[in-house]
Amino acid sequence: MDMVVRTNRAPSAGETLMGQAFALSPGGKGANQAVAAARLGAEVSMIGRVGKDTFGSEMLEIIKQEGIHIEHISVSETEATGVASIVIEEDGENRIIVVPGANIDLFVEDIQALETVISQAEMIVMQLEMELAMSEHAIAIAHRHGIPVILNPAPARVFKDKMLSQISYLTPNETEAGILTGMTVDSLETAEQAARILLQKGVKNVIVTLGSKGALIVNAEGAKSVPGFPVKAIDTVAAGDSFNGALAQQLVLGKTLEEAVNFANAVGALAVGKEGAIPSLPQLSEVEQFLKQ
Ligand code: ADP
Repeated sequence: MDMVVRTNRAPSAGETLMGQAFALSPGGKGANQAVAAARLGAEVSMIGRVGKDTFGSEMLEIIKQEGIHIEHISVSETEATGVASIVIEEDGENRIIVVPGANIDLFVEDIQALETVISQAEMIVMQLEMELAMSEHAIAIAHRHGIPVILNPAPARVFKDKMLSQISYLTPNETEAGILTGMTVDSLETAEQAARILLQKGVKNVIVTLGSKGALIVNAEGAKSVPGFPVKAIDTVAAGDSFNGALAQQLVLGKTLEEAVNFANAVGALAVGKEGAIPSLPQLSEVEQFLKQ
């Protein structure tokens, strides 16, 4: 659950300020990605954990209302629902503290117990707002069953080459591509260089998202830049998440990678045109309308 405070400026240490506005806004990378795919028409099951608190029951209700299967979102006995405390200054600068809580109260045994569920999926989509061991196990299970995996490596962490070799689609933004490779990624050229390093480690397809510039696909066939859609950016929260949910939904439909990335760019553009995380995610009809313009 995102707790968003708007203020003229952030307080200094020891200082108390009066802010302008406060809002609770459902979010979290996993939930955003699941809702993004569901709103586009995908059948989605989410695996995760919330706390026994009101944020937990609210998040479950919100996710359920999107038609997402919630049977595999369990409730932690000990940890609170994961929250992000977000302070946004007048000039748009933000400061964010994430307290993962129940997200890191998920254990390897919980993932192993879901092998059947994972093996029945057409696509697994994952991010890193949980312990890395969970992602490693889920990816290994998917790989064993030949299920393609999209890993959005956010928040960025360096992980083992073995895990990379089991990923079908890796979707870093420029910062994440930089952290994964130890390079500075700030242009198409450096994004391609970073992607090639990741390909050498065994990832099948690297898709570097480039904000307003769209995304770059790099795989054994070469590099292909897929331009973004010009929009007035209101709030870039959930841009990457909406992109990943859309990419999954399109690939499951059987679209080519380039078609899927183009569609995901449109979804990302629509998400940055609205405030909030989940509230900014478009319905299929909005995306179809946008692509016709
Ligand atoms: P993240 O949100 O993870 O930092 P990006 O900023 O690269 O990732 O955004 C993800 C995707 O969202 C981009 O590839 C693009 O499709 C879309 N997007 C992001 N920002 C904009 C923007 N200002 N205008 C249009 N599309 C955008």
